[in-house]
Amino acid sequence: MSDETDPGDGRPLRVAVIGAGPAGIYTAEALTRRAPVPVTVDLLDRLPTPFGLVRHGIAPDHPKMRAIRDTLHRALDDPGVRFVGNVEVGTDITLDDLRAHVDAVVYTYGAALDRPLSIDGEDLPGSLAATDLVAWYCGHPDADRARVEASLEGVRRAVVVGVGNVALDVARVLARAPQELEPTDMPQHVLDALAAAPVEEVTVLGRRGPAQASFTTMELRELDGLEQATVLVDPADLELSPAAEERIAGDRNATRNLAVLREWTGHRPEPDRVRLHLRFHRRPVRLLGADRVTGVEVERTTVDDEGRAVGTGEYEVLPADLVVRSVGYRGQGLPGLPVDQRSGTVPNEDGRVLRDGAPSAGEYVAGWIKRGPTGVVGTNKHDARETVASLLADAEAGVIRPSGDRDDLVQTLRARGAEPVLLEDWRAIDAAEVALGATRGRARTTLHERESLLSAVRAAAGR
Ligand code: NAP
Repeated sequence: MSDETDPGDGRPLRVAVIGAGPAGIYTAEALTRRAPVPVTVDLLDRLPTPFGLVRHGIAPDHPKMRAIRDTLHRALDDPGVRFVGNVEVGTDITLDDLRAHVDAVVYTYGAALDRPLSIDGEDLPGSLAATDLVAWYCGHPDADRARVEASLEGVRRAVVVGVGNVALDVARVLARAPQELEPTDMPQHVLDALAAAPVEEVTVLGRRGPAQASFTTMELRELDGLEQATVLVDPADLELSPAAEERIAGDRNATRNLAVLREWTGHRPEPDRVRLHLRFHRRPVRLLGADRVTGVEVERTTVDDEGRAVGTGEYEVLPADLVVRSVGYRGQGLPGLPVDQRSGTVPNEDGRVLRDGAPSAGEYVAGWIKRGPTGVVGTNKHDARETVASLLADAEAGVIRPSGDRDDLVQTLRARGAEPVLLEDWRAIDAAEVALGATRGRARTTLHERESLLSAVRAAAGR
């Protein structure tokens, strides 16, 4: 190790990564496997479980995608990486205190907030953010069970606003037959509530045209394979302006999407099957209802040459007793770490956090809180490597300095009454979920309460 890269006393470079989702795990992996100097990583998460949106975002009926956790687990098993769950930065430990334990911090805690539509009626019962519904069906401990389950009760017609992949996840889960969801790791109360909802119609609503939809073709095509739903597309929605034709010609995803949508214009509603409408050129202007949602008023739109939705002044009402807005995620700051309110990201340059426009020594960012809520799980790998390259270059240049000589982080946390969950504790949770699933012949059932997660840890530790 050269003098420049040695943080001062011959010990490894010590890095805390905040957020154990894919971005955090790829960051830890890049730090421990690709650095030319020894690095140790404390991988913190406010939940007692790792994997972030792989656990609490990827739809449970996508088991192959969720299996990426097995690959991510390899980084957790690296002796240079220590998973420290159930620790909230800002509550259990301040950012300043944490920084005193390590030489550098990488923020990878994602973008957990929903974006609002900012229209009348949005707060009515029966109006949910996709983030609420997704958290609930994935068994996130902070999900608002009461609100989501009350909103689902008796639902016949649902409208999902937005045409991204999350909107398709939500529409698919709502339209699935109970027997399709039965083998998943959804908590039992989720399976029961979804099975009890008498859904007859789900409408996915794009404010622009099919040329501008952001869902991907594989996810779109999957809608046609649902056991009890028929996908319905109005050919009038697929008529393209010359500008849209041009856009589609240069965009393979849009070209494929349009081909799939065109195939479906011949579908007709069938008795006893959920009608799964994909509708475009309609933007919601207001949610209707007195004590709960009864419909969505939408304005018809055209798309201008710059690709913006322009209202036509024609309105219609889509009856609905559930409206789920799936219009993107938004990041928030941590105490001591501001975010740009407009973008919902931490200002940065190649992953170096900018404070007052200048790089802040020893502070980095990766994943959705760095670049915004876009891309698939694998996108975070490249993103994390870029950030780690900046961090290692700074270490090499002597920008990162050893910060103090404090007690071990986990001891400090325990001394303050926190209950950090380490890798062997997570293994106990993992085993408890597998055992719970086995009671109903499933591979796993997600434990959805913080207390049950911690009970599994305590039971395994004999506490
Ligand atoms: P997204 O792809 O950005 O989609 C957001 C949708 O909301 C867009 O259709 C957008 O339309 C619409 N929208 C935004 N504001 C609106 C408004 N005020 N009124 C009506 N519509 C509005 O985001 P996402 O679906 O949340 O997904 C986030 C990321 O995760 C994406 O990169 C996605 O691919 C990824 N993801 C992947 C998978 C998978 O691979 N299976 C699954 C889930 C998520 P405009 O385009 O008109 O703004």
